[in-house]
Amino acid sequence: PLNLRGRVALVTGAAGGLGAHFSRTLGRAGAKVVLTGRRLDPLQDLARRLGEEDGIEALAISSDVSDADSVHACFDAAQDAFGVVDIVVCNAGHAATKPSLSMSDSDWDQVVNVNLKGAWLVANEGTRRLVAAGKPGSVIVISSILGHRVAGGVVSYAVSKAGVEQMVKALALEWARHDIRVNALAPGYIETDMNREFFSSEAGQAMIKRIPQRRLGQARDLDGPLLLLASDASRYMTGSTIVVDGGHLQ
Ligand code: NAD
Repeated sequence: PLNLRGRVALVTGAAGGLGAHFSRTLGRAGAKVVLTGRRLDPLQDLARRLGEEDGIEALAISSDVSDADSVHACFDAAQDAFGVVDIVVCNAGHAATKPSLSMSDSDWDQVVNVNLKGAWLVANEGTRRLVAAGKPGSVIVISSILGHRVAGGVVSYAVSKAGVEQMVKALALEWARHDIRVNALAPGYIETDMNREFFSSEAGQAMIKRIPQRRLGQARDLDGPLLLLASDASRYMTGSTIVVDGGHLQ
């Protein structure tokens, strides 16, 4: 049931970090993969590597998730190449770590425009096309445990992630009749190139000690939940959030 052969998956923010990993995981499960992000070069490079290393059919399209026209054009190009996208992964994210009193309104807008409005634009555009084609689909929004438990300096990020989880519930209610499922995946602290240095610092090590499993997550720890949500194995799940955090929220 985790097989994705014949499916077309679109991943936003796919150039690096978790997005690149998710793209490879979905491709290895058999899906054709549309890699999207703001800069084309790293996406094209990843598409080439996915093809050479894993025989994955991947297409790179540049797109800004916070811009409705850009999202529309991106789905047009994806559909022309591979047909209607039926797995949508809203992964693009922006984190501005700053105390609220030092934050500008543009700092706020940037985080909320990417994480919340961007996820809505992409989920909506994908679903509009699935409904028009009369096809079922799965939308996965990448949230965070910071949508559940706050920390200092992350107010806009925490609000945006709490927001996407409410959004998933509201959209699930509207889209169930069209056979479109929409769920959130909320990772805890997952090691990536961007945060490796921080987590090897003293402050980072202290944070790891507070995780019951006493380690950072690895991108591959998200593979099972991602494939579950993407595939028919979760056919009776919609409006749910899967938390993958080594017990951190307990
Ligand atoms: P990352 O910064 O490596 O990836 C985010 C990607 O989104 C980047 O490729 C970035 O260019 C892209 N992006 C930003 N703004 C965009 C826009 N306007 N349009 C298109 N793309 C845009 O970080 P990551 O750790 O790989 O995070 C991926 C997702 O996982 C994010 O939603 C993040 O909030 C979430 N997350 C990460 C962790 C973690 O510990 N790494 C934990 C919980 C949640």
